[in-house]
Amino acid sequence: QPIVSTQDLTKVYGHGATAVHALRGINLAIQPGEFVAVMGPSGCGKSTLLHLIGGLDRPTSGKVMIEGEDLTRLNDDQVTALRRRKMGFVFQFFNLIPVLNALENAALPMILDGMRPNEAYQRAREWLERVGLGPRLTHRPSELSGGEQQRVAIARALASEPSIILADEPTGNLDSRASEEIAMLLRQISSEWGRTILLVTHDPRIAAYADRIVFLKDGQIVDETIMESRNGDE
Ligand code: ADP
Ligand code: ADP
Repeated sequence: QPIVSTQDLTKVYGHGATAVHALRGINLAIQPGEFVAVMGPSGCGKSTLLHLIGGLDRPTSGKVMIEGEDLTRLNDDQVTALRRRKMGFVFQFFNLIPVLNALENAALPMILDGMRPNEAYQRAREWLERVGLGPRLTHRPSELSGGEQQRVAIARALASEPSIILADEPTGNLDSRASEEIAMLLRQISSEWGRTILLVTHDPRIAAYADRIVFLKDGQIVDETIMESRNGDE
């Protein structure tokens, strides 16, 4: 069973003459452990797709299935609960809290969710170490580079053990070297730790780290590439 699948997913913003058809019938399935990149130019519908899969917005028609559960049939509270339990978000602008250090930032969502702080800090520390931030646990965001801040956000997303990581242009605010490092980290999170990732990016160099690249244009999937070279790498 796929972690995520969509069926004839469509999204229209507005109506009448000014309606924008952001997605026009997307059928996509992401298998456990897969690292999928959705790539396409600005305005092709990447963010909309990620928002619908993440339950941040509702489709005009079509379905989003998360581990067999139809998101579109759940009410808002149920969607919120499912999102907290099953999804980890990584955004372009790291969304870290400036007055909290790396460890506190990574632990906060779990603590707010009712986990005992000791356990939350333990899990946050483990993931921060895995993403290479072991020596930076007590640094605040302003004391970290952009790439390091994004690593904190990635550790935060992984620490609650979601079914899938949804990453929206995670390198969009980084220079090319930091971008490449973040892409390599996502690759490692997938191949070494078996996590499932959906990445959206306009950058082909970043998409190239995925197992599969889905090309989006004007709200439709127009092509798909499986990166065969992944078999047996690393
Ligand atoms: P991408 O992420 O690929 O840049 P988006 O999903 O953000 O594309 O946008 C797809 C299309 O939908 C664009 O034409 C965009 O202007 C439009 N759009 C996105 N969000 C909204 C919104 N909330 N209201 C109206 N139009 C929107
Ligand atoms: P991204 O860079 O990730 O594609 P955008 O800058 O396109 O994001 O959009 C940022 C936010 O503004 C999103 O929540 C999107 O839904 C909304 N948005 C995008 N285009 C429009 C639009 N034409 N009208 C209203 N809201 C929009």
